[in-house]
Amino acid sequence: MRIDEILKHKRTLSFEVFPPKKGGEGKEKLLATIDELAGLRPDFISVTYGAGGSNSKNTVEIADYIQNSAHVNALAHITGGPSSPETVDGLARTLKERGIENVLCLRGDKPVGYEAEYCKYFAHATDLAEYLTPYHFTLGAACYPEGHVECASLYADLINMKKKEECGATFFITQLFYDNTYYYRLVNEARRIGIVSPIIPGIMPLVNPKNIRRIKEMCGSAIPLNFRNMIEIYAEHPAVMEEIGLNYAVYQIIDLIAMGAPGVHLYVMNNANTARAVCSRLEKVFDELF
Ligand code: FAD
Repeated sequence: MRIDEILKHKRTLSFEVFPPKKGGEGKEKLLATIDELAGLRPDFISVTYGAGGSNSKNTVEIADYIQNSAHVNALAHITGGPSSPETVDGLARTLKERGIENVLCLRGDKPVGYEAEYCKYFAHATDLAEYLTPYHFTLGAACYPEGHVECASLYADLINMKKKEECGATFFITQLFYDNTYYYRLVNEARRIGIVSPIIPGIMPLVNPKNIRRIKEMCGSAIPLNFRNMIEIYAEHPAVMEEIGLNYAVYQIIDLIAMGAPGVHLYVMNNANTARAVCSRLEKVFDELF
């Protein structure tokens, strides 16, 4: 089913997984994880696409499994940066053949030193979205509550977000964030400049203190001081840290739903336990409000 159609009728719960680098055991493990995630009754599961484009086959295979074996709507990510039109055509045709209707259009993170070659055919997600128009997918795109790291200003980033909608995106998923006020600001500003599509907040339960620095470096997401303090104090107590991270995510989600968010997208890092822990803490919220 088309995600934009689902969003017209209800809030969505979704999970994101990434294909294993190598096949074999990693793949089997991921398929088992997808089965577990399917048991939590998400509206869709998204599967990432490597910025280098090398695992595009894996993305399609995993999306196929989500759609046709786990029987959950699949959202296949495609990054235009490393892709040629031929690659995109091949991917689009295969996704169509497998009955996959939803694609998240992305550019991908430019590898340092290869910027020019990287975006040879699709400079931005907007170019990819336009190129995919004849395939009639439901297209989603990424957006950034704290601004994209390369963008000169938040306003310029918002204008580019609007271009994504004009090029065919009918829903957005945000970069992960830990301070909901950035999400509320993004939604307010987006509506003010005429963006009408649902903006699904992306939440990543921070259950491992080692990820703090990575998060700041990779996505520029700020971690509020009180949360950061808790993480630092309990960094040597993994079980306590896990509780803190899960409860913080739960708090964020309840606040987002109370403020009218159209759903929640959980970056679960292929960890079904994290997804299950969040879902069990929020069982009534998901049962009654989604
Ligand atoms: P763009 O939309 O091209 O934006 C990149 C920069 O260009 C921004 O600063 C933007 O303001 C600007 N810009 C956008 N459009 C235009 C335009 N038309 N003209 C001029 N400037 C413009 N990466 C992966 O490699 N694989 C994944 O599967 C993946 N999944 C993701 C899922 C989500 C929900 C999110 C939020 C991110 C994901 N990423 C993924 C990371 C993403 O690829 C990076 O954040 C990348 O740096 C930007 O991708 P984008 O699609 O937002 O690019």
